[in-house]
Amino acid sequence: MDLTMQTIAKEELEEMKRNIFLTTLEQLKAWARSNSLWPLTFGLACCAIEMMGVGSSHYDLDRFGSFFRTSPRQSDVMIISGTVTKKMAPIVKRLYDQMPEPKWVIAMGSCATAGGPYVNSYAVVKGVDQIIPVDVYIPGCPPNPAALIYGINKLKEKIRYEAKTGKRVM
Ligand code: SF4
Repeated sequence: MDLTMQTIAKEELEEMKRNIFLTTLEQLKAWARSNSLWPLTFGLACCAIEMMGVGSSHYDLDRFGSFFRTSPRQSDVMIISGTVTKKMAPIVKRLYDQMPEPKWVIAMGSCATAGGPYVNSYAVVKGVDQIIPVDVYIPGCPPNPAALIYGINKLKEKIRYEAKTGKRVM
């Protein structure tokens, strides 16, 4: 092969590298899922006000492919935004159970993470991870909408990582 042919072949190979990529079905599904997370619409206390902020035009969560859904059957993410009282805990668990697999949970704020300012209250669950598995914890009292968006993006990374490695990271 002369020099011109070698150069053309090399350019064609470079062009192919730019236009073809290989992956697994699991990774492709994780890529699609992570870019269309649908959180369940509900809030438990003051953190929920900040959660509602992400849906506003200023923060515009829709641009990340995330839309709040009103039914657990149409949702794959549960954002625990607020204080989980012992009276509310069975309802939270039931809603979680009604969501189809695969599903993920974000604990938003110090109440959902560990009881927050009510940690000494007899009526409050000291962290929602005592009743359902949590994937991402967001600190703050309350975390602002930007922190929630950061947490959602961390969840996306986690979903893709799990598909790549085949391991569930809690
Ligand atoms: S973490 Fe703070 S802002 Fe959020 S629900 Fe608890 S008390 Fe309210």
